[in-house]
Amino acid sequence: MKKSTELFDQAQNYIPGAVNSPVRAFNGVGGTPVFVAKANGAYFTDVDGKKYIDYVASWGPMLHGHNHPAIKEAVVKAAENGLSFGAPTEIELVMAKKVCQLIPSIEQVRMVSSGTEATMSAIRLARGFTGKDKLIKFEGCYHGHADCLLVKAGSGALTLGEPTSPGVPADFAKHTLTAEFNNLDSVKTLLEANSGEVATIIVEPIAGNMNCMPPVDGFLQGLRELCDQHQAVLIFDEVMCGLRVGPGTAQQLYGVTPDLTTLGKIIGGGMPVGAFGGKKEIMQHLAPAGPVYQAGTLSGNPVAMSAGLASLELLSQENFFAPIYDYCEKLVSGLQKLADKHQVPFTTNHIGSMFGLFFTEEKTVTRFSQVVNSNQDAFKQFFHAMLDEGVYLAPSAFETGFISAAHNQETLEKTLQAADKAFASLK
Ligand code: PMP
Repeated sequence: MKKSTELFDQAQNYIPGAVNSPVRAFNGVGGTPVFVAKANGAYFTDVDGKKYIDYVASWGPMLHGHNHPAIKEAVVKAAENGLSFGAPTEIELVMAKKVCQLIPSIEQVRMVSSGTEATMSAIRLARGFTGKDKLIKFEGCYHGHADCLLVKAGSGALTLGEPTSPGVPADFAKHTLTAEFNNLDSVKTLLEANSGEVATIIVEPIAGNMNCMPPVDGFLQGLRELCDQHQAVLIFDEVMCGLRVGPGTAQQLYGVTPDLTTLGKIIGGGMPVGAFGGKKEIMQHLAPAGPVYQAGTLSGNPVAMSAGLASLELLSQENFFAPIYDYCEKLVSGLQKLADKHQVPFTTNHIGSMFGLFFTEEKTVTRFSQVVNSNQDAFKQFFHAMLDEGVYLAPSAFETGFISAAHNQETLEKTLQAADKAFASLK
């Protein structure tokens, strides 16, 4: 028996579903998850010694590839001075300045330990600032597992078929209104029906939790205008796409300025870090400057900050993103050609270092319903065929793929060779 299988079976006894975060269990694709032993660059090796090209990148953070020497060195160096103090440190200031410099809409920033904390806190702040309760989110977008955000959510919640989780009291969920991504009319309708009550609109400016779905022209601009008209706080949840689509963020790419931004993943360089920030006028409402409470024992942890800072410094280097973008283009166009060769109905989305694969007859995918109606069985078969060939794609048809700076010509060629066989096996 494979060691991964053995560990998975044993873990069922001690950990619910054997994993510490649901999609890792392969519920979306069936079969036994791969237990990872170590990772380096674009590859990881499982506990049975098999090597994989990794397109999950720890669900986004590993933009620089695994085990990057500069990040590892920063972590080791920081750890030599102690792991956590619960008192302010200089590196928190350096990190805050770096974030504000990279993302000009962020005038002040607060560090937390996960993306969930970032979005949950940003929403509390938006509610405290506006004195209103309701929020608008989009079906298929995922913003972490805070109660008010587990309504028609994407990612693992969607994969498991529980987009609105049991355990969220109806009294909480009633403040969450859900609109359709890339459909401004659906937002207008909600704002008009709830006039004067909507505190905030939270959106992934590039949706990455219903597979990869960039915004259509005018969508983000329209949200900005609607928030201004209705005195609602616009939150861009850039936990996933932030710092992945260029030196800046989706907001810089599309030229739309939110009031608040949430970050995570890449700003931790692989350590548990999240952040939220934005207009000083709003951020000043946060404790201890203001009355909206938010706190964290390990927030701004010096080891995590060091990893994050090293990650941000690496991505700030000139032309850092150009080869990653180039790889992404070549990967999706290569996959499309192979699908066409094997007459498999298939299309892709991509932006920056994020890509999405859809088994569908549709030529473009811009709506949640199109993702849900794509051929999940074909995806599952393709996923397992790729896995057998040593290519690790996200184990769900509702997740984005990620390119890192460590992917190169060798990984591209190997991936496309694997895909040639995988598409052929679908016939
Ligand atoms: N927001 C977005 C856009 C995310 O993709 C995620 C996680 N995938 C989160 C928030 C939650 O982050 P975390 O898992 O670190 O709590």
